[in-house]
Amino acid sequence: MSAQPTPLPWHEPALAELANRFDANRLAHALLLAGRRLTGKTTFARLLAARVLCREASTGGRNAACGTCSECQLIAAGTHPDLLEITPVDSKQIKVEQIRSLLGWMRGTPQRGGYRVVVLWPAHAMNGISANALLKGLEEPGRDSLLILVTDQPGALLPTVRSRCQRLNLPLASQQEGLTWLGHAVPAGVLPVGTDQATLMQIADGNPVEVAVRSGDGFYERRDAVFGLLREGAAGAPPLAVAAQLARMDGLEVIELWSGLLLDVAKVAAGAVSHCRNVDQRELLEVLGDRADPGALADFSDELIRAQQSLLGPSNPNLQLRFEHLCRAWATL
Ligand SMILES: [Zn+2]
Repeated sequence: MSAQPTPLPWHEPALAELANRFDANRLAHALLLAGRRLTGKTTFARLLAARVLCREASTGGRNAACGTCSECQLIAAGTHPDLLEITPVDSKQIKVEQIRSLLGWMRGTPQRGGYRVVVLWPAHAMNGISANALLKGLEEPGRDSLLILVTDQPGALLPTVRSRCQRLNLPLASQQEGLTWLGHAVPAGVLPVGTDQATLMQIADGNPVEVAVRSGDGFYERRDAVFGLLREGAAGAPPLAVAAQLARMDGLEVIELWSGLLLDVAKVAAGAVSHCRNVDQRELLEVLGDRADPGALADFSDELIRAQQSLLGPSNPNLQLRFEHLCRAWATL
Protein backbone atom coordinates (compact mmCIF):
# COMPACT_ATOMS: atom_id res chain seq x y z
CA MET A 1 0.00 0.00 0.00
CA SER A 2 1.52 3.28 -1.08
CA ALA A 3 1.70 6.13 1.39
CA GLN A 4 2.45 8.60 -1.40
CA PRO A 5 -0.18 10.46 -3.39
CA THR A 6 -0.39 9.20 -6.95
CA PRO A 7 0.59 11.44 -9.86
CA LEU A 8 -2.13 12.96 -11.99
CA PRO A 9 -2.31 10.80 -15.15
CA TRP A 10 -1.28 13.70 -17.40
CA HIS A 11 1.75 14.38 -15.17
CA GLU A 12 3.06 10.81 -15.33
CA PRO A 13 5.20 11.26 -18.49
CA ALA A 14 6.90 14.33 -16.98
CA LEU A 15 7.58 12.48 -13.72
CA ALA A 16 8.95 9.48 -15.64
CA GLU A 17 11.24 11.74 -17.66
CA LEU A 18 12.63 13.41 -14.52
CA ALA A 19 13.04 10.03 -12.80
CA ASN A 20 15.03 8.79 -15.80
CA ARG A 21 17.21 11.87 -15.74
CA PHE A 22 17.83 11.44 -12.02
CA ASP A 23 18.76 7.76 -12.43
CA ALA A 24 21.15 8.72 -15.24
CA ASN A 25 22.65 11.46 -13.05
CA ARG A 26 21.46 14.10 -15.51
CA LEU A 27 18.90 15.92 -13.37
CA ALA A 28 19.60 19.64 -12.89
CA HIS A 29 20.27 20.81 -9.33
CA ALA A 30 17.52 23.40 -9.53
CA LEU A 31 14.15 23.01 -11.23
CA LEU A 32 11.46 25.60 -11.79
CA LEU A 33 8.03 24.01 -12.00
CA ALA A 34 5.70 26.48 -13.66
CA GLY A 35 2.06 26.24 -14.58
CA ARG A 36 -1.37 27.62 -13.88
CA ARG A 37 -2.75 27.99 -10.39
CA LEU A 38 -4.39 24.89 -8.87
CA THR A 39 -2.95 22.41 -11.35
CA GLY A 40 -1.11 20.12 -8.93
CA LYS A 41 2.38 21.63 -9.23
CA THR A 42 3.29 21.39 -5.55
CA THR A 43 2.00 17.82 -5.38
CA PHE A 44 4.15 17.03 -8.41
CA ALA A 45 7.17 18.61 -6.69
CA ARG A 46 6.56 16.45 -3.60
CA LEU A 47 6.22 13.33 -5.75
CA LEU A 48 9.51 14.12 -7.46
CA ALA A 49 11.17 14.80 -4.09
CA ALA A 50 9.91 11.44 -2.81
CA ARG A 51 11.14 9.69 -5.96
CA VAL A 52 14.61 11.20 -5.49
CA LEU A 53 14.78 10.20 -1.81
CA CYS A 54 13.19 6.72 -2.16
CA ARG A 55 15.64 3.81 -1.72
CA GLU A 56 13.83 1.37 -3.95
CA ALA A 57 12.57 3.38 -6.91
CA SER A 58 15.85 3.66 -8.82
CA THR A 59 16.71 -0.02 -8.56
CA GLY A 60 13.15 -1.04 -9.34
CA GLY A 61 12.99 1.28 -12.36
CA ARG A 62 9.85 2.91 -10.99
CA ASN A 63 8.66 6.35 -12.01
CA ALA A 64 7.28 7.15 -8.57
CA ALA A 65 8.52 6.50 -5.02
CA CYS A 66 7.76 3.01 -3.67
CA GLY A 67 5.80 4.35 -0.70
CA THR A 68 7.02 1.60 1.63
CA CYS A 69 10.80 1.86 2.16
CA SER A 70 12.25 3.55 5.24
CA GLU A 71 12.73 6.84 3.35
CA CYS A 72 9.17 6.82 2.06
CA GLN A 73 7.88 6.13 5.57
CA LEU A 74 9.79 9.13 6.94
CA ILE A 75 8.41 11.28 4.11
CA ALA A 76 4.85 10.11 4.82
CA ALA A 77 5.34 10.93 8.51
CA GLY A 78 6.65 14.39 7.59
CA THR A 79 9.92 13.72 9.41
CA HIS A 80 12.44 13.03 6.64
CA PRO A 81 15.54 14.99 7.72
CA ASP A 82 16.74 15.56 4.16
CA LEU A 83 13.48 16.97 2.82
CA LEU A 84 12.61 20.59 3.45
CA GLU A 85 9.60 22.63 2.38
CA ILE A 86 9.87 26.41 2.33
CA THR A 87 6.64 28.36 2.14
CA PRO A 88 5.41 31.64 3.65
CA VAL A 89 4.83 31.52 7.41
CA ASP A 90 2.65 34.18 9.10
CA SER A 91 3.04 36.39 6.05
CA LYS A 92 2.46 36.48 2.31
CA GLN A 93 6.20 36.44 1.71
CA ILE A 94 9.06 33.98 2.00
CA LYS A 95 11.44 35.86 4.22
CA VAL A 96 15.19 36.14 3.91
CA GLU A 97 15.66 34.39 7.28
CA GLN A 98 13.98 31.32 5.80
CA ILE A 99 16.33 31.39 2.80
CA ARG A 100 19.38 31.84 5.04
CA SER A 101 18.43 28.86 7.16
CA LEU A 102 17.78 26.88 3.97
CA LEU A 103 21.29 27.70 2.70
CA GLY A 104 22.80 26.64 6.03
CA TRP A 105 20.84 23.40 5.87
CA MET A 106 22.03 22.72 2.32
CA ARG A 107 25.65 23.15 3.34
CA GLY A 108 25.33 20.28 5.83
CA THR A 109 25.69 16.58 5.07
CA PRO A 110 22.59 14.58 4.15
CA GLN A 111 21.61 12.66 7.28
CA ARG A 112 20.24 9.64 5.43
CA GLY A 113 23.14 9.32 3.02
CA GLY A 114 21.14 10.18 -0.08
CA TYR A 115 19.98 13.48 -1.53
CA ARG A 116 18.79 16.66 0.14
CA VAL A 117 15.66 18.05 -1.48
CA VAL A 118 14.01 21.43 -1.04
CA VAL A 119 10.51 22.24 -2.29
CA LEU A 120 9.99 26.01 -2.27
CA TRP A 121 6.50 27.33 -3.03
CA PRO A 122 5.20 29.65 -4.21
CA ALA A 123 8.56 30.88 -5.48
CA HIS A 124 7.10 34.27 -6.43
CA ALA A 125 6.46 34.85 -2.71
CA MET A 126 10.18 35.53 -2.29
CA ASN A 127 10.81 39.25 -2.00
CA GLY A 128 13.87 40.76 -3.69
CA ILE A 129 16.11 40.24 -0.67
CA SER A 130 15.07 36.60 -0.31
CA ALA A 131 15.52 35.92 -4.01
CA ASN A 132 18.98 37.47 -4.02
CA ALA A 133 19.93 35.36 -1.02
CA LEU A 134 18.70 32.25 -2.82
CA LEU A 135 20.91 33.03 -5.81
CA LYS A 136 23.92 32.02 -3.72
CA GLY A 137 22.41 28.58 -3.22
CA LEU A 138 21.68 28.32 -6.93
CA GLU A 139 25.24 29.27 -7.84
CA GLU A 140 26.83 26.79 -5.44
CA PRO A 141 24.20 24.11 -5.02
CA GLY A 142 26.44 21.57 -3.31
CA ARG A 143 26.55 17.90 -4.15
CA ASP A 144 23.54 15.64 -4.00
CA SER A 145 21.03 18.40 -3.60
CA LEU A 146 17.90 19.27 -5.51
CA LEU A 147 16.01 22.53 -5.24
CA ILE A 148 12.50 22.58 -6.69
CA LEU A 149 10.88 25.99 -7.09
CA VAL A 150 7.15 26.05 -7.77
CA THR A 151 5.27 29.02 -9.17
CA ASP A 152 2.25 30.10 -11.18
CA GLN A 153 3.92 33.46 -11.84
CA PRO A 154 7.36 32.67 -13.32
CA GLY A 155 7.52 36.19 -14.78
CA ALA A 156 7.50 37.60 -11.24
CA LEU A 157 10.78 35.85 -10.37
CA LEU A 158 14.15 37.53 -10.69
CA PRO A 159 15.53 36.77 -14.18
CA THR A 160 18.75 35.60 -12.53
CA VAL A 161 16.78 33.06 -10.47
CA ARG A 162 14.89 31.86 -13.54
CA SER A 163 18.03 31.51 -15.61
CA ARG A 164 19.74 29.31 -13.01
CA CYS A 165 16.88 26.81 -12.93
CA GLN A 166 15.84 24.26 -15.47
CA ARG A 167 12.26 25.16 -16.25
CA LEU A 168 9.49 22.63 -16.61
CA ASN A 169 6.01 23.73 -17.64
CA LEU A 170 3.65 21.08 -16.36
CA PRO A 171 1.10 19.99 -18.96
CA LEU A 172 -2.63 20.46 -18.51
CA ALA A 173 -5.16 17.68 -18.86
CA SER A 174 -7.01 17.25 -22.13
CA GLN A 175 -10.78 17.66 -21.84
CA GLN A 176 -11.25 13.88 -21.95
CA GLU A 177 -8.46 13.18 -19.42
CA GLY A 178 -9.95 15.80 -17.12
CA LEU A 179 -13.48 14.43 -17.31
CA THR A 180 -12.30 10.84 -16.82
CA TRP A 181 -10.20 11.85 -13.82
CA LEU A 182 -13.06 13.82 -12.26
CA GLY A 183 -15.27 10.76 -12.65
CA HIS A 184 -12.78 8.48 -10.85
CA ALA A 185 -10.76 10.63 -8.48
CA VAL A 186 -13.38 12.85 -6.89
CA PRO A 187 -15.62 11.11 -4.35
CA ALA A 188 -19.34 11.15 -5.00
CA GLY A 189 -21.08 14.05 -3.31
CA VAL A 190 -18.08 16.39 -3.50
CA LEU A 191 -18.90 17.94 -6.88
CA PRO A 192 -21.68 20.54 -6.72
CA VAL A 193 -25.12 19.22 -7.60
CA GLY A 194 -27.04 20.62 -10.53
CA THR A 195 -24.04 21.46 -12.72
CA ASP A 196 -22.66 18.87 -15.13
CA GLN A 197 -18.95 18.09 -15.20
CA ALA A 198 -18.37 19.55 -18.65
CA THR A 199 -19.78 22.89 -17.43
CA LEU A 200 -17.61 22.75 -14.30
CA MET A 201 -14.59 22.11 -16.52
CA GLN A 202 -15.46 25.12 -18.67
CA ILE A 203 -15.91 27.35 -15.60
CA ALA A 204 -12.43 26.21 -14.50
CA ASP A 205 -11.04 26.88 -18.00
CA GLY A 206 -10.42 23.17 -18.55
CA ASN A 207 -8.60 22.56 -15.27
CA PRO A 208 -10.02 19.48 -13.48
CA VAL A 209 -7.83 19.97 -10.38
CA GLU A 210 -9.43 23.36 -9.87
CA VAL A 211 -12.87 21.74 -10.09
CA ALA A 212 -11.89 19.14 -7.47
CA VAL A 213 -10.23 21.60 -5.07
CA ARG A 214 -12.97 24.18 -5.33
CA SER A 215 -15.77 21.63 -4.96
CA GLY A 216 -14.28 20.64 -1.64
CA ASP A 217 -14.13 24.16 -0.22
CA GLY A 218 -17.64 25.43 -0.98
CA PHE A 219 -16.46 27.68 -3.79
CA TYR A 220 -19.39 26.95 -6.11
CA GLU A 221 -21.93 27.91 -3.44
CA ARG A 222 -20.08 31.19 -2.82
CA ARG A 223 -19.86 31.77 -6.56
CA ASP A 224 -23.64 31.26 -6.90
CA ALA A 225 -24.20 33.81 -4.13
CA VAL A 226 -21.90 36.41 -5.71
CA PHE A 227 -23.35 35.98 -9.20
CA GLY A 228 -26.88 36.11 -7.76
CA LEU A 229 -26.10 39.51 -6.22
CA LEU A 230 -24.43 40.77 -9.39
CA ARG A 231 -27.47 39.67 -11.38
CA GLU A 232 -29.73 41.62 -9.01
CA GLY A 233 -27.41 44.62 -9.20
CA ALA A 234 -27.48 44.57 -13.01
CA ALA A 235 -31.29 44.30 -12.92
CA GLY A 236 -31.76 47.44 -10.84
CA ALA A 237 -31.47 46.36 -7.18
CA PRO A 238 -30.23 49.25 -4.98
CA PRO A 239 -26.41 49.39 -5.29
CA LEU A 240 -25.98 50.11 -1.58
CA ALA A 241 -27.89 46.98 -0.58
CA VAL A 242 -25.97 44.79 -3.05
CA ALA A 243 -22.67 46.29 -1.90
CA ALA A 244 -23.51 45.64 1.76
CA GLN A 245 -23.96 41.94 1.04
CA LEU A 246 -20.84 41.67 -1.14
CA ALA A 247 -18.80 43.41 1.58
CA ARG A 248 -19.59 40.55 3.96
CA MET A 249 -17.88 38.07 1.61
CA ASP A 250 -14.22 37.39 0.80
CA GLY A 251 -13.38 40.63 -1.04
CA LEU A 252 -10.63 39.21 -3.24
CA GLU A 253 -12.74 36.25 -4.28
CA VAL A 254 -15.66 38.55 -5.12
CA ILE A 255 -13.39 40.68 -7.31
CA GLU A 256 -11.89 37.65 -9.00
CA LEU A 257 -15.36 36.31 -9.82
CA TRP A 258 -16.55 39.72 -10.95
CA SER A 259 -13.50 40.13 -13.21
CA GLY A 260 -14.13 36.72 -14.78
CA LEU A 261 -17.76 37.64 -15.42
CA LEU A 262 -16.77 40.99 -16.92
CA LEU A 263 -14.29 39.30 -19.25
CA ASP A 264 -17.09 37.05 -20.45
CA VAL A 265 -19.40 40.06 -20.98
CA ALA A 266 -16.69 41.56 -23.20
CA LYS A 267 -16.45 38.27 -25.11
CA VAL A 268 -20.21 38.18 -25.65
CA ALA A 269 -20.13 41.83 -26.79
CA ALA A 270 -17.41 40.84 -29.27
CA GLY A 271 -19.45 37.87 -30.54
CA ALA A 272 -17.19 35.23 -28.95
CA VAL A 273 -19.82 33.52 -26.77
CA SER A 274 -18.21 30.10 -27.19
CA HIS A 275 -15.04 31.34 -25.43
CA CYS A 276 -16.87 32.27 -22.23
CA ARG A 277 -15.96 30.45 -19.01
CA ASN A 278 -19.08 31.23 -17.00
CA VAL A 279 -21.36 29.37 -19.37
CA ASP A 280 -23.99 28.81 -16.68
CA GLN A 281 -24.50 32.61 -16.47
CA ARG A 282 -25.37 32.95 -20.13
CA GLU A 283 -28.57 34.95 -19.64
CA LEU A 284 -26.83 37.65 -17.60
CA LEU A 285 -23.86 37.68 -19.98
CA GLU A 286 -26.11 38.23 -22.98
CA VAL A 287 -28.12 41.02 -21.32
CA LEU A 288 -24.94 42.88 -20.36
CA GLY A 289 -23.10 42.03 -23.57
CA ASP A 290 -25.95 43.56 -25.59
CA ARG A 291 -26.25 46.79 -23.66
CA ALA A 292 -22.74 47.64 -22.40
CA ASP A 293 -20.42 49.77 -24.50
CA PRO A 294 -16.78 48.70 -24.84
CA GLY A 295 -15.46 51.89 -23.23
CA ALA A 296 -17.62 51.37 -20.14
CA LEU A 297 -16.47 47.74 -19.87
CA ALA A 298 -12.82 48.82 -20.03
CA ASP A 299 -13.41 51.51 -17.38
CA PHE A 300 -15.13 49.01 -15.13
CA SER A 301 -12.29 46.54 -15.60
CA ASP A 302 -9.86 49.26 -14.46
CA GLU A 303 -12.03 49.85 -11.38
CA LEU A 304 -11.88 46.16 -10.51
CA ILE A 305 -8.10 46.12 -10.88
CA ARG A 306 -7.80 49.17 -8.61
CA ALA A 307 -10.06 47.53 -6.03
CA GLN A 308 -7.98 44.35 -6.15
CA GLN A 309 -4.74 46.28 -5.74
CA SER A 310 -6.12 48.14 -2.75
CA LEU A 311 -7.19 44.85 -1.14
CA LEU A 312 -3.75 43.34 -1.74
CA GLY A 313 -1.97 46.43 -0.44
CA PRO A 314 -0.74 47.04 3.10
CA SER A 315 -3.61 49.35 4.14
CA ASN A 316 -7.00 48.11 5.25
CA PRO A 317 -9.43 49.41 2.60
CA ASN A 318 -13.09 50.07 3.34
CA LEU A 319 -14.68 47.17 1.48
CA GLN A 320 -18.19 48.57 1.78
CA LEU A 321 -17.18 51.87 0.10
CA ARG A 322 -15.24 50.06 -2.62
CA PHE A 323 -18.17 47.82 -3.43
CA GLU A 324 -20.68 50.71 -3.33
CA HIS A 325 -18.61 52.48 -5.95
CA LEU A 326 -18.39 49.34 -8.08
CA CYS A 327 -22.09 48.49 -7.70
CA ARG A 328 -23.17 51.98 -8.84
CA ALA A 329 -21.04 51.64 -11.97
CA TRP A 330 -22.24 48.05 -12.51
CA ALA A 331 -25.90 49.13 -12.39
CA THR A 332 -25.34 51.60 -15.22
CA LEU A 333 -23.20 49.42 -17.50
ZN1 LIG B 1 10.49 4.25 -1.17
